[in-house]
Amino acid sequence: MRVCVIGTGYVGLVAGAGFADMGNDVVCCDIDAEKIARLSRGELPIFEPGLEPLVKHNLGEGRLVFTTAIEQAVSKAEIVFVAVGTPPGPDGEADLSQIFAAGASIGRGLKGFTVVAIKSTVPVGTSDRLRDTIAANTTQPFAVISNPEFLKEGDAVNDFMKPDRVIVGATDPRAVDVLRHVYAPFLRTSDRLIAMDPHSAELTKYAANTMLAIRISFMNEMAGLCERLGADVDAVRRGVGADPRIGNKFLFPGSGYGGSCFPKDIKALLTTARGAGAAVEIADAAQRVNERQKRVLGEKVVAHFGGQLAGKKIALWGLAFKPGTDDIREAPALVLIDQLLAAGARVAAHDPAANAAVRKQLGDRIELASAAYDAVKDAAALVLVTEWHEFRRPNFERIKQLLAQPVLFDGRNIWEPGYLRSLGFTYYGIGRK
Ligand code: NAD
Repeated sequence: MRVCVIGTGYVGLVAGAGFADMGNDVVCCDIDAEKIARLSRGELPIFEPGLEPLVKHNLGEGRLVFTTAIEQAVSKAEIVFVAVGTPPGPDGEADLSQIFAAGASIGRGLKGFTVVAIKSTVPVGTSDRLRDTIAANTTQPFAVISNPEFLKEGDAVNDFMKPDRVIVGATDPRAVDVLRHVYAPFLRTSDRLIAMDPHSAELTKYAANTMLAIRISFMNEMAGLCERLGADVDAVRRGVGADPRIGNKFLFPGSGYGGSCFPKDIKALLTTARGAGAAVEIADAAQRVNERQKRVLGEKVVAHFGGQLAGKKIALWGLAFKPGTDDIREAPALVLIDQLLAAGARVAAHDPAANAAVRKQLGDRIELASAAYDAVKDAAALVLVTEWHEFRRPNFERIKQLLAQPVLFDGRNIWEPGYLRSLGFTYYGIGRK
């Protein structure tokens, strides 16, 4: 099929490369000319496992093309996916300006019946509003549908190539057929396409992200309770997750969730619900618990040193909001860094992928080490924030030699407290005995 993707960020680039890999002719568009120039040379602006070979291969085969000429790309497409950003506005509502700017370009470009699928996460009713925007710019026939994306950063290519489900919110049966056609190669083992009305599809995405955030916040509260009661949250997590009605995913306590999706999507859901006069108190609580949780690790560090952090160097491992990505949007590490700097500490950090993004945001406020162990040298403590694989079984003897004091804060409960104590470390986890 002739596919156009508007917006080449985490979602648009993965989707564009994925559709191209199935043999479609894909044109990926963006207003960021520098990004498009780099992508056309096969250089990736983001880190996402498996994405670079996919982009390079399909670019080389001529099935994947990058351009800033959006209207021209739209004019040739049978289906246009909109994957632009929907960041939070000043009051927490989703800022839809990129969606409607893309809509105007689509309207000006349309030629012949075309399906416009919204992949971006958008509030209920946005597909209606996008239809109006496009209609104001064209006389050509088209259908707007909702097709929310569920990929996870860090595993985005896998998620896109093997989706758990494909949600299609449409009223026009022709549009559903087009979506079935373009997604069929991804759904060969079983039909996981769920068709529904557009409003339900739009809400499904917010409900899914909010449900996941609620699970995390609930377990973070249980971790706090375990610390008060002398229980162990790892044991509780395993016991609870063994119930198939509950399942064992998304039950890990830690330093709070971050990223470009959960925080903004919950805020947007709350704003939508308030506007509709509906109560969504659990979502509201999950968000408040998360804000508090992001400070827990920093509070443990400050408490350990009795508030005397002035001039002390604290080492941080992991800055991205999760492993496998260079994305630091709303990352818990940023809150921790602010806490430590405010307490007078010096911070030295290392992340396998996100050092450059942090340098761009924080400049020289912290020291960024290109090797993990360099960050640890002469530090008063090491704090694990993001559980990249390479941090799971590091050389603790080397860490002990490098540290000025053998103190570890494990923000993701990935290390063995008993073993570390036997090596002479003081160990802090989250909700562990
Ligand atoms: P992003 O910020 O990485 O990328 C958005 C891209 O759109 C940018 O390259 C930007 O230059 C481009 N853009 C903005 N306005 C444009 C316009 N008028 N025309 C063409 N291009 C334009 O965003 P993202 O993380 O890929 O997220 C995109 C959407 O998908 C958001 O609504 C997000 O909530 C949703 N989503 C994200 C994820 C994720 O893991 N990142 C997962 C599922 C859904």
